[in-house]
Amino acid sequence: MGIRPILRYGERPLHEPAADVTAFGDSLQQLVDDMIETMYAAPGVGLAATQIGVPLRVFVIDLTVGRNTGELIVMVNPSFVSREGTQLEEEGCLSAPGFNATVVRPRQAVVKGLDRHGQEQTIEGKDLLARAFQHEMDHLDGVVFIDRLRGIKREMIVRKIQKLKKTGKW
Ligand SMILES: [Zn+2]
Repeated sequence: MGIRPILRYGERPLHEPAADVTAFGDSLQQLVDDMIETMYAAPGVGLAATQIGVPLRVFVIDLTVGRNTGELIVMVNPSFVSREGTQLEEEGCLSAPGFNATVVRPRQAVVKGLDRHGQEQTIEGKDLLARAFQHEMDHLDGVVFIDRLRGIKREMIVRKIQKLKKTGKW
């Protein structure tokens, strides 16, 4: 299949929680390959299956956007082992192009789950990786970073998106 269209904020499947993967056959392998290709093409540092309308608990992260082989993380059925500290940084999302906002995230996060072949793995993330873990885990629960914002900042972004939608630019 290759590069898949990325859903945007407001499109229903993006806002619904995903279910655990139960089969590690060809269709999962195809999904993972497509997610990696889609993430690199965007380009982005992370992508969750919900962003391409697949309601499964899978995300991919590569902070180097493909420059460093070996930096690619594929996580299936992930859960947090621990989250510590806080960080406040600007964040964006492939499902909300053009918008950035400061989001509170853990400074350190340990995630455990399965790799694409069903083998257990545990990965510790600090700073940007901890932020990416939390961002992608949120996607698997149907949460976009905009949903994490409060008050006027969130209202402003949502209003701008609604305006873009009305003019067919979203
Ligand atoms: Zn995102």
